[in-house]
Amino acid sequence: MLYYSTNRKSPDVTLRDAVVRGLAPDRGLYMPRTIKTLPKVFFENIDRMSLQELSYIVADAFFGDDIPADDLRTIVYDTLSFPIPAVRVEENIFSLELFHGPTLAFKDVGARFMARLLGWFNRNGNRLVNVLVATSGDTGSAVANGFLGVDGVHVYVLYPKGKVSPIQECQFTTLGRNITAVEVDGVFDDCQTLVKNAFMDEGLASHMNITSANSINVARFLPQSFYYFGAYAQLKAIGKADNLVICVPSGNFGNITAGLFGWKMGLPVKHFIAANNANDIFYNYLKTGAYNPKPSVQTLANAMDVGNPSNFARVLDLYNGSHADISSNIGGATYTDAQISETLKEVYDRTGYLMDPHGTCGYRALKEQLEPGQTGVFLETAHPAKFKEKVDAITGGDVVIPERLQAFMRGTKQSVPVGRDYSGFRDFLMSQKG
Ligand SMILES: *Cc1c(COP(=O)(O)O)cnc(C)c1O
Repeated sequence: MLYYSTNRKSPDVTLRDAVVRGLAPDRGLYMPRTIKTLPKVFFENIDRMSLQELSYIVADAFFGDDIPADDLRTIVYDTLSFPIPAVRVEENIFSLELFHGPTLAFKDVGARFMARLLGWFNRNGNRLVNVLVATSGDTGSAVANGFLGVDGVHVYVLYPKGKVSPIQECQFTTLGRNITAVEVDGVFDDCQTLVKNAFMDEGLASHMNITSANSINVARFLPQSFYYFGAYAQLKAIGKADNLVICVPSGNFGNITAGLFGWKMGLPVKHFIAANNANDIFYNYLKTGAYNPKPSVQTLANAMDVGNPSNFARVLDLYNGSHADISSNIGGATYTDAQISETLKEVYDRTGYLMDPHGTCGYRALKEQLEPGQTGVFLETAHPAKFKEKVDAITGGDVVIPERLQAFMRGTKQSVPVGRDYSGFRDFLMSQKG
């Protein structure tokens, strides 16, 4: 399969090049040349398949030309080593719990898949691949854990000193093995600048092979389509799959774009909803047809604090830029922190189901927009314990931190301190094995 750039000013590339480059040279996002429609019989039998089985079939449609079946099956099965259950919250509303992976958030799926794919590309082990990733918290933990122990790949996680939460910090500083945490004496933007400098440094490139694990990478976002099929399968099994509405708490719009790919492949979804926090750029686009990026504002659902969603270009491309088509297929919603708190608490008190602030936006949009006869699924993108202080303050409760999160907190922190100027970081990388 070849991949083209949404800006159409760069040549098509192979899967390998799309994954290693991340962004196209013309700064567009890579898209697969064809999106295959899955056969009717797949959807007829889907409720009798496991998540791993059905995901392999979806993966084959994207990656089957590039990766031999047995290897692709191994990659998919290893990626999805945890369940993704659709849990009933009330009569017609289900929560697709994407937090059962190692770092308790949906980004585990894409990060684990990408790690295994890069490991496969490098299976003959001629040269190590080094992944540089700058993080303000969550991406670093998903990428580091996704790549942990993958042969032929070394990960450097750059994070701003004192600016990530203690829980987040342990998730990438205690791992050891092929993961190195780099503690930057600066802010997140300094981390990003160091990574950008490294990518432009030809001297460094001749010493080591470097790549990014940014969320716009095709190997991170396409695998997120798997669990949309998984949700459908679970609802079909209980006779609730007709008139399905899927609501996605959205920031950079990678997650919902993967769902739209699923729909293009034939997944019977009536309608999608993108739920925003106060960062309402997409919501306003739906209403007005004008796309006006603006600086992000901080909210309770901070992983969605995005003022210029990077995957908007992919959404536009999927619909040939038609605002009419986009707004007829995707609904919008935007919620203030007060509304998020109120809904999180109301649902917890009424049903006993505890959501995180991101999933709460998804729930509320379904509650407001579902029509009679429809079933709604919202993506519960993280475990509420990841936001323990905020969630406890809202409910007055005490969320239990799952054992796998506590385990990180018992580990020993190890990191390499660097300054915010490039020379120190460069010296460090040049001293590492290439
Ligand atoms: C990253 C993230 C989101 C936003 O996902 P996008 O793909 O950027 O739209 C939502 N919730 C949580 C918990 C996240 O970590």
